[in-house]
Amino acid sequence: MRCIECGREYDENELRYRCDCGGLLEVVTDLERAEDVFDGKNVTLWKYESWLPVRKRVSLNEGGTPLYRLSNLERELGVELYAKNEGANPTGSFKDRGMTVGVSKALELGMDKVICASTGNTSASLAAYAAKAGIKAYVLVPSGKIALGKLAQAIIYGARVVPVKGNFDDALRVVVEASAKLGVYMLNSINPFRLEGQKTIALEIYDQLGFVPDNVVLPVGNAGNISAIWKGFKELYEKGITDELPRMIGIQAEGAAPLARAWKAKKPFEPVENPETVATAIRIGNPANWPKAWRAVEESGGLFESVSDGEILRAQELLASREGLFVEPASAAPLAGLMKLLESGELDRGESYVLVTTGHGLKDPNVVVNRFTLPKPIEPTLEAFREVMK
Ligand SMILES: *Cc1c(COP(=O)(O)O)cnc(C)c1O
Ligand SMILES: [Zn+2]
Repeated sequence: MRCIECGREYDENELRYRCDCGGLLEVVTDLERAEDVFDGKNVTLWKYESWLPVRKRVSLNEGGTPLYRLSNLERELGVELYAKNEGANPTGSFKDRGMTVGVSKALELGMDKVICASTGNTSASLAAYAAKAGIKAYVLVPSGKIALGKLAQAIIYGARVVPVKGNFDDALRVVVEASAKLGVYMLNSINPFRLEGQKTIALEIYDQLGFVPDNVVLPVGNAGNISAIWKGFKELYEKGITDELPRMIGIQAEGAAPLARAWKAKKPFEPVENPETVATAIRIGNPANWPKAWRAVEESGGLFESVSDGEILRAQELLASREGLFVEPASAAPLAGLMKLLESGELDRGESYVLVTTGHGLKDPNVVVNRFTLPKPIEPTLEAFREVMK
């Protein structure tokens, strides 16, 4: 592991999540060992084992998610448009990529208890992989602010679900202290092994497309995923498998947009006190990985943007009703952001875009059913139905 701030290196089996200087750590990949397996066939996460830093394997057959061509929206927007449908993972979000590697690492380190703070999907995923590994999971969630489907998942997989009075950032603070003092292995995204799993989104996009897209657009919450995907593309480049890199476009919700705000104002990063948005998966005011995410966007020539809850819900409806793709609100933020940035001219219509749709729509059914009301029931007769069809 290497510190991204001071460059100091640590053994991969040392139990630590940050450098002594306070900087974030990243796993240094052994690119000598990484194999060129990119033939477009049998895509699954563990196809890229030679790019991953673990030898044990706790797996639920994650990854290998579909890359859809969004042919209907493409015509309207005038761009080449794809969606990497991460809702197709075993627990319905990309978090499974991080957890298959992270929980495998926990076993390699001999840990029998794992912990995370979560806006929902991290806890669902950690709970499932801990169940598979036969170890104990503690998940700390902001009380009352977690989507129904995600809560149900964490409970039924058998995790100890601990509601915390406060928001995600408060819960994460407790988790960081617990991991330092109580002998539990932390699997939030400041754990660099999780990001190794998540970098396979980049490897899969390249494998499935056969080329590197001009732009990758994704929602940004705690800012781990954008950092992980950028790392994946950079490693493909450094290994000499591709000679192209995408622009990384990070989309935040207006009420939880510390990165987009700092980026656009060209000001230093500052956390947001009381983050609020319908997109609960990105309702984070103090993204722990912000320095990595900032570099990803800067190095790639990308940008951060924010979108309103209204724009997010409109994009969620568009993905479902035009493309048959039902995603949770956070996962619709990339389409909302793309539409906004095409409109403003900050992004080009002549380019290719991959939206990372991070989680399944059924995670958060209330957002939909609260928005739309069903019509009154009809009499069970053909006449009544004929009226409906008029
Ligand atoms: C976790 C999550 C995000 C945010 O990812 P970060 O790595 O925290 O930036 C976005 N969408 C969904 C559905 C998520 O579960
Ligand atoms: Zn350091």
